[in-house]
Amino acid sequence: MDNINVIEKKQFYLDSIAKFCDKCGNAYSLDDLNILQSSGASAIIHFSCHICKSKHIASYVSSNMGMSSRVPINTDLGIDEIRKFSKKEVLSLQNILDLYVDMKKRSKVIL
Ligand SMILES: [Zn+2]
Repeated sequence: MDNINVIEKKQFYLDSIAKFCDKCGNAYSLDDLNILQSSGASAIIHFSCHICKSKHIASYVSSNMGMSSRVPINTDLGIDEIRKFSKKEVLSLQNILDLYVDMKKRSKVIL
């Protein structure tokens, strides 16, 4: 993605999903948007209000009918934290079992 593309996309999502902050009513600027994921017809957008610092994640799905839906999620995660967590692998059942077995071997667990 080159820069012009990103700006065009951000403008599109700004127009399509939310133009104003839910909390303070401030108009979002392009810098308040971060495209977390964008593939084909769906995208996940992170909104961060530069006035009141409230953050939202919205998923955007467009269909052939030209319909879209968004699901805003209140979040206090910053863009860097989300990037960090989204790279983490999902815990497997074996991971949890290993932890359980390991903890059972100890007489006490210090947290
Ligand atoms: Zn705001």
